[in-house]
This record gives sequence, structure tokens and C-alpha cells, in this order.
Amino acid sequence: MSLRLSFYGGAGKVTGSNFLLEGARGKVLVDCGIEQGADFAEKAVYGPFPYDPKTIDTLVVTHAHLDHVGRIPKLVRDGFGGKIYMTPPTKDLAELILRDSAGILREEAARRGVPPLYEEKDVDRTFHLIETLDYHTEKEVAPGLSAYLRNTGHILGSASVRIVDEDGVAVVVTGDIGNSPSPLLPDWEAVPDADAVVMESVYGDRLHTQKANRDALLKERLQKAVKRGGTILIPAFSLERTQLMLYELSNFFEAGDLPKIPVFLDSPLAIQVTEAYEKWGMTYFKPEAEDEMRREGSIFNFPFLKKTLSRTESMSIEQVPGPKIIIAGAGMSHGGRIGRWETRYLPNPSTTLFIVGYQAPNTPGRRMLEGARSVRLAGADVKIRAAIETLDGWSAHADRDELLKFAEAALSQKRPKIIFTALGEPSTERFLAQRIHDYLGARAVAAEYGETWEITKEAVNRL
Ligand SMILES: [Zn+2]
Repeated sequence: MSLRLSFYGGAGKVTGSNFLLEGARGKVLVDCGIEQGADFAEKAVYGPFPYDPKTIDTLVVTHAHLDHVGRIPKLVRDGFGGKIYMTPPTKDLAELILRDSAGILREEAARRGVPPLYEEKDVDRTFHLIETLDYHTEKEVAPGLSAYLRNTGHILGSASVRIVDEDGVAVVVTGDIGNSPSPLLPDWEAVPDADAVVMESVYGDRLHTQKANRDALLKERLQKAVKRGGTILIPAFSLERTQLMLYELSNFFEAGDLPKIPVFLDSPLAIQVTEAYEKWGMTYFKPEAEDEMRREGSIFNFPFLKKTLSRTESMSIEQVPGPKIIIAGAGMSHGGRIGRWETRYLPNPSTTLFIVGYQAPNTPGRRMLEGARSVRLAGADVKIRAAIETLDGWSAHADRDELLKFAEAALSQKRPKIIFTALGEPSTERFLAQRIHDYLGARAVAAEYGETWEITKEAVNRL
């Protein structure tokens, strides 16, 4: 008996995660993400799935990021009617993310005069199919196939998925692997019990050089920014990065490392996501963070934090004199409320803008990171006289050395016959595969879109 593994997204690409596993009697899909950075009307986003969604029994989801869940409502619209399994926090977060993206997709489609990728009613039907599956619970999810989830320490609720057939042939798809240790989440768990492992490799060829002293660096740069007296802008992804920033700020204020200046969380999505973090933190954070929550009630709140949900509240931020901090999306300054504040404050030399996350090529964030003197925002050129501070230690992804450690732990019981490097740029996937081969003596292959591999107890072969 065997399992067949096909790569239908996230192979040679960081985004668009989509892997199909077929046993003798059942078919399970792992993730159904959207390809980000692709043109909205491109085949990868709009085109048909390379399999018939009606024939898939079940979908298992690794985590709530859009590049892992973004095409689920389209899958449902195209005929998928099975159950969708994910951890309880992922369910809450995925619902927020999908609702938010349905609105953005609708506006984008209207702007281009094309039908939307999916509609609100497809999102509603998706929610009806979701069932929760907790970590460390083996469950038969399709005929002859069971699933088992483990924490990957990437964002709240993130999981690796192990699929096992009736003969015990097992394949693990890691989803994204966290930049452990995190102040909030438990460290990633090893996956030593699979015949084949599909692992992420976003930072497979790079190190997060500032990780060890990232708290001290953030504190020092913030102190410098406060002295400049102006507005401090932090463009941040709504999921995980924003909560990490709130947590760090709350600690700095409590320790008296920063003067008590107003902080605005100016993103409706980030406000809701933070509520989900508050709700699930007591169950899914690491023990130290859970203790802290028990002692302090909230670890993301502080007295002069203002959450500006409505547009009117948001506009009122402008009346508050500096120094002040504004946290808002989008994380690469490619839309969202941060754009308005960048247009307003970047020309002012007392402003400081912090870059704390990955900035994709051709985004305003990337251009600022590369030292541009002006940037195009909402159709207008904006002069940059603000200071730009870049901090690389805050990524939610494991770096080169951490990924090698993950591979080593996966190989600890000499079980996997192959490791596929996936969810990375092609050269990065090849770099990491080569490194796993050279350093750990294991067979490692960069995943290729459209390939199918057969995995048995004895061997792994490309079909
Ligand atoms: Zn992710």
C-alpha cells in the first residue's frame, strides 16, 4: 500500500500552499492557500484547481495565514463538500482572515470589472464545513486515512499535519515552521515518525542575524525615535507580528524603559485578531506566557493603548501631538490604514518608521527598506524625510540553521526516506535540500509544481 503526494501549490513558491495526499480509498488535501504577489487575475488565483474538488474527501489546514487558507471558499464554490479540519484557534483566526479577504477581493474585482474570486455566501458555506481537531489527537479524516496535528510555533494555532494510511505509511506536511523560541508560543515540535516530510523553506538560505538581541535593539531604536519627538509608524501584519509588538511595548512601558506615550492600534482586523489571542492564550501559549496572563490579566493591553476601530476614531489620531506610536496594516505598506499615516507623516523629519517583517519585491515597504527617498502611496508620490529603522529578528519563520535543526530532528529515528523542501523560492528550496543532504546525509529534493511521488514503506519514487 502506498500514499501518493502531489504538489499543487507552494512548490518553488513561498505562497499558495496546496498538497494532495491519496490513499487506496481516500483523498486528503492539506492547505488551500492563495498565491500572494501573483496578479489578481492570474491562473494561479483565478484558474481551475488541477484536481476535481468534488472528489476530495477532506481538507486539513496547517494555519490561518491567507497563503494557506485563501482559496478555500473557491474550493467550496467549485464543488468541495467535505469536512475541513483545523485547530480551535485556527478556526477563529481563519474566519476573521477569510471574511476580511472576501471584502478586499470584492473591491478589487469591482475595480477591475471582473467577477469576484468567491462571494460572501461561499465563505458562509466554508464556515459550515469546519470542524476542529486539536493537537495530539489521531483522527480518521477520510476513508483509510488519519490525521495528527502538532504545534509548529509559527502563529497561534499553527500545526504540522501527519497523514497515515491503514498500513502505517505516513507523510508530514509542516506548514510554516516558527522562529522558536517565541515569547508567546511553544517551540516547534519534531516530526520523527513520517516516511516523507514536506517542509517549509522560506528562509532556507538566510539567518536572522539580530534574533538574539532583538528585544534590546527594538527598545533602543524606540527610545531614539521617541527622542526625535515625532510619530512612530509600525506597519505590521495583523496576525502574530502585531501581538508580538503589543507584548513587547507593554513590557517596555511596564519596566519604565519608554515614557508613557500614546499607542494606537489602528486596524480593525488586528484588533479582532488580538481578541482571539486573548481568548486562546490561556490554552495555547507557552507555560511562561500563560502564567503571565494569569498574573496580569492581559499581556497585550496597557492603559494608554487606544484601539481605533471606526473610521472616525482612526481620523482622530491626527489631533494627538507626538511622540506617539501608530501600529496598522498592511505589513508591507501596500494598502490598509498605514498608507494614510505614511502619506501624512513620512515627509516629516521627526517621524520614524519601523520595518519589522518581510517586504516582498515591488511593495512600498521594500522600496523604503532599500533606501528610496520617495515612495508611491495611493497614486501619489510621497517624499521620505523620516528615519527608517529595519529590524530583522521579528520574523515568524525559522531561519537557515533552525530549519536544519528541524530536519535533523525529523531524521532522528531514521524514518523519513525523503525530505521535500517546499514553500520557498526555487533557489532557496534547492539550497536547503543540498544542505540537508550534505550536513545530515539524507535524501532531500526541492518540490516541483505538478509532480506526484509514490511513498511506500520500502521506497519513495517520482511517478
Ligand atoms: Zn504562515
